[in-house]
Amino acid sequence: MQAKTAFDLVFRNAVTRSAATPVDIGISAGKIAAIEPKLVCEAAEVDACGRLVLPGFVDTHIHLDKACLLGRCGHGHGSLGEAIKAVAAMKRDFTVEDVYERGRKVIERAIVAGTTRMRTHVEIDPRIGLRSFEAIKALKRDYAWALELSVCAFPQEGLTNDPGAEELLVAALRDGADLIGGCPYTDTDPNEQLERVFNHAQEFDVDVDLHLDFDLDPSWWHLEEVCRQTERRNYQGRVAIGHATKISALSPDRFKATAARLAKSGVAVTVLPATDLYLMGRDATHNVPRGLTVAHRLVDSGVLCSVATNNVQNPFTPFGDASLLRMANLYANAAHAAIGDFNACLDLVTDLPARLMNLKDYGIAVGNPADLVILNTDSGPNAIAELPDILAGYKAGRKVFERSLPALFPPR
Ligand SMILES: [Zn+2]
Repeated sequence: MQAKTAFDLVFRNAVTRSAATPVDIGISAGKIAAIEPKLVCEAAEVDACGRLVLPGFVDTHIHLDKACLLGRCGHGHGSLGEAIKAVAAMKRDFTVEDVYERGRKVIERAIVAGTTRMRTHVEIDPRIGLRSFEAIKALKRDYAWALELSVCAFPQEGLTNDPGAEELLVAALRDGADLIGGCPYTDTDPNEQLERVFNHAQEFDVDVDLHLDFDLDPSWWHLEEVCRQTERRNYQGRVAIGHATKISALSPDRFKATAARLAKSGVAVTVLPATDLYLMGRDATHNVPRGLTVAHRLVDSGVLCSVATNNVQNPFTPFGDASLLRMANLYANAAHAAIGDFNACLDLVTDLPARLMNLKDYGIAVGNPADLVILNTDSGPNAIAELPDILAGYKAGRKVFERSLPALFPPR
């Protein structure tokens, strides 16, 4: 029998989502080396005490470059157009240091909320140039000890109608952007934007993550064109669309047909509850529509989906703490998730976004990096229901944060 003493660290009594009873997780050289009940070893121990241990949350869609702007603008914004305009006006004054500082705040909140992987969109255009991109690259480097950051360069204000934007986008791809995004609804020629975005994606062999649609009128959309381009380029499994709020306005029949179309073309959907709930349905005077696409029902039909943060404290969403567990709870509530759906809701901020980002080394499995977070609860469904404290996080076996349980002091 192999002597099991070669671990650097062992997590005891960990509830994982795949084991029926608590297990021990042995860590060696930053990787998960064994998962078994009652591992025999003399390594340093972390007792999870029967609590849920997850491989960290995965945020597929956030905007670090335009987070935390509320102090600098009025807050009368009620529509998407006004929010884009408000940020566009402020963007000219962004400096590398300013973007870094605001992004740092959000990354640190995300880390202590248990996020271990993140994809940030970063705006690239002639107004901001590559300043935000430079700041985000620095954040990626400086916080790699706690969180793996992937950078998606994209033109928020249009591509074909914004001379110079495309050259800057290509410069970002040459200089380390991990993937390319797009926003066809702000372009005067949406299909041409999609054509060019896919061209660059193929040229640089990177994935595509689009801000697709952001209204509740399903009588027109670019979704079909995205599916068509994905199939034409053999890009199945490499394309995601964010918001896709029009899907929330579909009749059951069209919803079913759309889910089948997305599943067939391998196009994933990211739902952004905080922003979608905040900006959609602004025209309604009463019986306001939610404007939230029901991701877990799309998953039932074979579509890969995630729930993500999007904006934090800016005109698009004037609140936020970068907590994906809170976002999954908000989603579950607004999407009428039943208790039997809570596991699926947790999947939307863990395993499914990891697949969306094509992460090959995510999950509590032997050989993967020891990225582990401990939640103060005993099961996946209870994590969604209770919003427990996230007690500690480890990246490659190294502790990156911890949080004490609150204490009550009753009078004696
Ligand atoms: Zn976004």
